[in-house]
Amino acid sequence: MRRLLSLKKGNLFSYAGCGMPYYIEGQIKELDELLKTSLGVPRDEDYFLKTKNVKLLGHTEAQRIDRCNKKVTVKRSSHKFILRY
Ligand SMILES: Cc1cc2nc3c(=O)[nH]c(=O)nc-3n(C[C@H](O)[C@H](O)[C@H](O)COP(=O)(O)OP(=O)(O)OC[C@H]3O[C@@H](n4cnc5c(N)ncnc54)[C@H](O)[C@@H]3O)c2cc1C
Repeated sequence: MRRLLSLKKGNLFSYAGCGMPYYIEGQIKELDELLKTSLGVPRDEDYFLKTKNVKLLGHTEAQRIDRCNKKVTVKRSSHKFILRY
């Protein structure tokens, strides 16, 4: 199976937008709970790699997508590089 790469400009890989109302309402007490599976496993880099075969790259911003040539210009810290897809 081909491994996918997912860029995130921040470091929240699965911020669970759908569960946010439950947190605001107070049904879910800790924000951390939203970032875990129903079995309590954190949805972090390790989780996505092992269960979804998706490699996450945090603090990595896609700045330009060249769809014709299938290239993404990416910025990570102060480094810029090109990813092909
Ligand atoms: C309150 C609320 C309730 C919802 N309820 C439901 C529901 O009940 N059912 C349902 O199906 N959907 C629901 N949704 C919608 C669902 O959460 C979204 O469809 C889903 O989060 C979209 O996922 P996504 O990964 O495409 O985008 P997002 O979850 O928005 O993730 C995008 C990520 O990309 C990052 N990013 C943005 N720009 C760049 C860049 N240039 N380079 C690198 N990273 C970048 C962002 O920081 C973010 O981490 C809800 C959303 C909200 C806010």
